[in-house]
Amino acid sequence: MQVLKFTSQVEEYNHYLELNLEEQKLIESAMGAAKNAYAPYSKFSVGSALLLNDGTIVTGSNQENVAYPSGLCAERTAMFWAGANHPDKHIVTLAIFAESEDFVVEKPVYPCGSCRQVMSEYERIGKHPMRILMSSATGKVHAVNGLINILPVAFDADNLKR
Ligand SMILES: [Zn+2]
Repeated sequence: MQVLKFTSQVEEYNHYLELNLEEQKLIESAMGAAKNAYAPYSKFSVGSALLLNDGTIVTGSNQENVAYPSGLCAERTAMFWAGANHPDKHIVTLAIFAESEDFVVEKPVYPCGSCRQVMSEYERIGKHPMRILMSSATGKVHAVNGLINILPVAFDADNLKR
């Protein structure tokens, strides 16, 4: 028996204004997108902004539903829109922002497992490691270069081959 170890590398910024201007703008786009969240049940509004390789910014927000599983996260809302409308482009950077009506979101918000799986697929078909910026209402940001840092052992297309 051997033990396999996987390591992650996460950059931590005390405030998003420490990022470069392009990334600051992307976080601010995610903040704006969170204002369009439909989150009457969780009262947790999430915004996501994607930077595509031609400079296009695509945003999304969480869209809840009274039948809870029918809703969708901000990240997948944005990624599926980008996939449907810009299928020839890939995602360079994905920013996430969240705020709650009930408390101050102090910790950077990481994507859920389902969104990580979808990000993994778009990263694979885009043939480009995705940079992910996870931010918070206090301005603190965690950033990673590549899904491997937050989804080290993904289920991918190779699993479907012999
Ligand atoms: Zn999600």
